[in-house]
Amino acid sequence: MNKREQIIEGRSIERKILLNPGPATTAASVKLAQCVPDICPREKEFGEVLQSICDGLLKIGKATNSHKVALFASSGTGAMEAVLSSAVGNTNRILILTNGAYSLRFAEISKCMGIQYDTLFDFGEYPSLDRLKKQLSSKSYSHVVMIHHETSTGMLNPLEDISELCSDMRVRLIVDAMSSFGAYPIDFSTYKIDYLISSSNKCIHGLAGLSFVIFHESCIPELKANARGYYFNVFEQWNALRTKKQMRFTSPVQVCYAFKKAVEETLIESVEKRRERYTNNWQLLYNGMIALGFRNFLKPEYESNILLALHMDLDFDFNGFHDFLFERGITIYPGVIPQSNTFRVAIIGDLYKKDIEFVLHEMGRYFDTIS
Ligand SMILES: *Cc1c(COP(=O)(O)O)cnc(C)c1O
Repeated sequence: MNKREQIIEGRSIERKILLNPGPATTAASVKLAQCVPDICPREKEFGEVLQSICDGLLKIGKATNSHKVALFASSGTGAMEAVLSSAVGNTNRILILTNGAYSLRFAEISKCMGIQYDTLFDFGEYPSLDRLKKQLSSKSYSHVVMIHHETSTGMLNPLEDISELCSDMRVRLIVDAMSSFGAYPIDFSTYKIDYLISSSNKCIHGLAGLSFVIFHESCIPELKANARGYYFNVFEQWNALRTKKQMRFTSPVQVCYAFKKAVEETLIESVEKRRERYTNNWQLLYNGMIALGFRNFLKPEYESNILLALHMDLDFDFNGFHDFLFERGITIYPGVIPQSNTFRVAIIGDLYKKDIEFVLHEMGRYFDTIS
């Protein structure tokens, strides 16, 4: 044995079932991948890790030539802020499709940065293309901002139709696909997306700590002209990766190694197969929870099959339910829908049929204990 070798104890780590919408349940292989020799992130070897992540993300979106990647050390919201502060100019006006909590966050960020914006649609409302078209004809907008999968309600917004309309009307499209990219086929050669935002810890099943922006190369001039942020600067961050194979400032080194592994595993499973697994898990959970007496918030045709928002009108105490499940290794999540008492369960992560069956079994036991 090399005298500089460290033996990392073979530890057994309990496998939790996280039904909160990210950070998600990760595979053992991803957890293990973060355990690497310490390395300076300016070394060439680490540059190859970053390169492999970026190449893999483009492959997930089938976008190897047309699009570029900027990586940031932050949670997903960092990349939301990065896109608005990098792409939107002082004289621009953007239109935010605010049909949920995460799109309202874009409005908060805009307010904070002094970006001119309008909002369209109410919380929980399915976006009407006619209304969007009318709004886009009424004023001059530089960008439309939308969420693909609205994680507050579980609604899957019509990305393909909206991208088509924006392209026809010559408005750039910013898509937050935080809780869909990796588990929902988004093909950049057919969807006309200028900016896509996502993060390491949702449907790609990595650890928390990295966010990214995939942007079309035609956006480079506006990124160079409009950037008002220093750290969250999409052009500079991409340019450093491109020219030096480095992030501009300290990378979350171990999170990057784990993310590289998670990206590889996403490609091995394939986005289409992951979508199938998610849909099956979701359907099983949906059927089981409806059988327990719960009611879902959305009309079934709007469901993403990634997350369920459920009314709390059964006679039970959410905190008691949460704590009972938490003790058994299962985490459920509170709701954020205004004027509705809801909670959420997501099937994002390295979860399988037997996990969902276990969840339903334990939920059934909870209701037996309180009846
Ligand atoms: C999770 C999520 C975010 C970002 O949340 P962070 O806590 O900053 O990672 C943004 N948008 C959507 C749709 C999300 O699901």
